[in-house]
Amino acid sequence: MNHEYYVKYAKLAVKVGINLQKGQDVVIRASTACSEFVTEIVKECYANEARSVSVEWSNDGIERLKLIHESEETLSKVLDWQEAKAKYNAETIPCSIYVDDSDPDALQGVDMQKYSNIRVARYQVLKPYRDQSENKDQWLIIAVPSVAWAKKVFPNDTDEEAVRKLWEAIIKTTRLDGDDPVEAWEKHIAYLKEKSQKLNDLNLDYLTYHSSNGTDLTLKLQPNHEWLSARETSLQGYEFSANMPTEEVFTMPKRDGVNGVVVSTKPLSLQGQLVENFKVTFKDGKAVEVVAEKGQHVLETMLNMDEASRYLGEVALVPFNSPINETGILFSNTLFDENACCHLAFGAAFKNNIKGYETMTEEQFKEIGFNDSVNHVDFMIGSEDLDIIGTDHEGKTYQIFKNGVWAI
Ligand code: ZN
Repeated sequence: MNHEYYVKYAKLAVKVGINLQKGQDVVIRASTACSEFVTEIVKECYANEARSVSVEWSNDGIERLKLIHESEETLSKVLDWQEAKAKYNAETIPCSIYVDDSDPDALQGVDMQKYSNIRVARYQVLKPYRDQSENKDQWLIIAVPSVAWAKKVFPNDTDEEAVRKLWEAIIKTTRLDGDDPVEAWEKHIAYLKEKSQKLNDLNLDYLTYHSSNGTDLTLKLQPNHEWLSARETSLQGYEFSANMPTEEVFTMPKRDGVNGVVVSTKPLSLQGQLVENFKVTFKDGKAVEVVAEKGQHVLETMLNMDEASRYLGEVALVPFNSPINETGILFSNTLFDENACCHLAFGAAFKNNIKGYETMTEEQFKEIGFNDSVNHVDFMIGSEDLDIIGTDHEGKTYQIFKNGVWAI
């Protein structure tokens, strides 16, 4: 990897991604394998006058050993200092950057039931702190290749060649290849904003999906929904871009308003295992039946983690000709694969997809059926002949997607 790209990438992450403001704290979460790149991010944070920068290191191999050798009870317990840290972060609202290089197979062979029980137990303790800081902070997920991830994507290449190819794909899809990535991002953000604005102006009641693969779905949108895209504004008033790359325009489905069948169009990488060729049947919002050619068990385990996992938290529109899809690569990483085509997400919804969420109480979120879950799992349903029709409250229809791409 050319060092020049590390510098460009770090600058893009700090200036456009979290849009760091003078005097803010930054927490970077990254694996020990990316220390050279993380050092560049740290430098860039100080160059933009961060008050403090902390790095929380992780390591896939060690996480895996812990999951195998420590008991469910030990791993489920949130230690006092861990809770104190969550409380401190909820009060000080640092910006966070998560550098993802995870091996899609990292958890293969780990007891999935044990793993999901641990996640549910920890989530319950840490949730109040997460709720407290939700939407207040500027955050970002970006990715760099690890050998394990690159080999999963390019299994027939040498380690070096696989990493080089994955870097190439990341550089292209995150728009790092031009002279001025910051400017390229500003243009891209404006393009996506135009789409979300059009959808917000239509104020649709529901969407209907049709594809020759068998997808036949009616999806009601949450009343007062707001379509969002690449640029969000935190409750502290700072703009930021949470995902790099991003191609999606997304909002909140009505919890009990989804009916019909959707067919997956890309494998889903879930807790270290691939779920392939699956079909989901929804009735009044609930995924009542899932049939997968591969990975049925891991999909069911995820859906059974809590009641809300069987309901949708997000509907996202991404054209089938997105730069990510055009690479022809299955990344086995949600950050990339979810930006390859239209998707839905099981589980948690985003509060800022509702107009006026800033002043809503937890009670009001409950009343409108806000879907709150330990999971947020995106799965891809876009295809080259996907048609999406939007219908407004007067029954007027609009072609939103035609043959897999934007029609508005
Ligand atoms: Zn999404």
